[in-house]
Amino acid sequence: MKITVVGTGYVGLVTGACLAQVGNQVLCVDIDAEKVARLREAEVPIYEPDLPGIVQEGVKSGRLQFTTEIAAGVAHGDFIFIAVGTPPEEDGSADLRHVLAVADEIGAHLQNPVIVINKSTVPVGTARKVQDHIAAALLKRKVEIPFVVVSNPEFLKEGAAVADFMKPDRIVIGTNDAAAAEKMRALYAPFNRNHDRLIVMDPPSAELTKYAANVMLATKISLMNELAGLAECVGADIEQVRRGIGADPRIGYSFIYPGCGYGGSCFPKDVRALEYSARQHDFAAPLLSAVEAVNNRQKQILEQKLVAVLGENLAGKNIAVWGLAFKPNTDDLREAPSRTLMAGIWRRGGTVQAYDPVAMNEARRLYGDQQHLTFCEDPYAACDGADALIICTEWQEFRSPDFRKMRRLLRQSIIVDGRNIYEPAIMRSEGFLYSAIGRP
Ligand code: NAD
Repeated sequence: MKITVVGTGYVGLVTGACLAQVGNQVLCVDIDAEKVARLREAEVPIYEPDLPGIVQEGVKSGRLQFTTEIAAGVAHGDFIFIAVGTPPEEDGSADLRHVLAVADEIGAHLQNPVIVINKSTVPVGTARKVQDHIAAALLKRKVEIPFVVVSNPEFLKEGAAVADFMKPDRIVIGTNDAAAAEKMRALYAPFNRNHDRLIVMDPPSAELTKYAANVMLATKISLMNELAGLAECVGADIEQVRRGIGADPRIGYSFIYPGCGYGGSCFPKDVRALEYSARQHDFAAPLLSAVEAVNNRQKQILEQKLVAVLGENLAGKNIAVWGLAFKPNTDDLREAPSRTLMAGIWRRGGTVQAYDPVAMNEARRLYGDQQHLTFCEDPYAACDGADALIICTEWQEFRSPDFRKMRRLLRQSIIVDGRNIYEPAIMRSEGFLYSAIGRP
């Protein structure tokens, strides 16, 4: 099949590369000329496991190509995916500028019948808007070309994006057009062999399903974080509570880890966007506001715990930070708790020695060379001469470090663990002042 993917970020590039991997002819379009130039050389600009291999194979075989020319993209595909960003506006609403700009371009250049597939996370009613924009552009050109807009939200997780795309839990197709649904079934057939994962529904339901999934997950995290705070107050251990509730199959063990708050490019913005939608409809959604408020409070918790041991004024204090990415296996720093923490340390006059296994380049790009931030070669270099160590991301390599070496390197044996990766009793026996989330 001939497929065009507009937007080559985490979602677009994975979509394009996976569809090329199974034999399709894929043309990816992006307005970022530098990104396109690198991708043409099969150089993947983001850290995503398994992605470089399939991009290289795709480029080498000629099945995966890249361009900045939207007209070429529109001419190429029988299916055109829209996978551009939908960042949050000040008021929380999703910024649809990029999505609608692509719709306008499709309308301006379309020559043959096409299925336009919206993969970006967008509020209910956007498929309709995309439809209207394309139709208006065609009308302006005084041409009639049949097209269908299908809503197809993406559920992949950064850090496991290729695996998720290749073996999805479900493929949600939002359309009222039976013929388009069948074409979508054919498109996804290579990823739908084991059992039928296709769920066809109307477009508004498909659009809401994506937000519903993300706010459900964000709610689990915020509820656990709220319970963790309460556990500290009453003298309980949230890790024991977690195991106690996870044993109930109605609750389950997944996604109930307490921590220093959720980040990333999706949960924070999607919770806010759905809250905004509710407000637009004069519908009270107190749970959504609470999920966000609890998360904002939780993102302050590491700084509060640090202040509790080192005092309000951090001038002259050097803090080691392990993990900058918002979660393991990605270099994405968008809304990462580490950024809230570092801003707090700097506000109080302290400096940071940071280490992350893969997000250092992205951090350098964001922060540049600053006096109050040193990028370290390895986790131990970050500890060297630091007054405390704070763990922001639960990377595998932090799970069983050389505690003796760390004690020798740290100026004070203080660890604030935002991911509960160690046992408090063991840390005490290793000679650390250890503070975790919701643990005695
Ligand atoms: P991203 O910011 O990584 O990438 C977006 C890309 O679109 C960029 O490369 C940008 O240059 C390009 N772009 C913007 N406007 C364009 C235009 N007019 N024409 C061509 N290219 C254009 O974004 P992302 O993380 O891939 O997310 C894309 C969408 O998918 C968002 O709506 C997001 O909410 C959703 N989503 C993201 C994830 C995730 O884990 N990142 C998961 C599921 C859904």
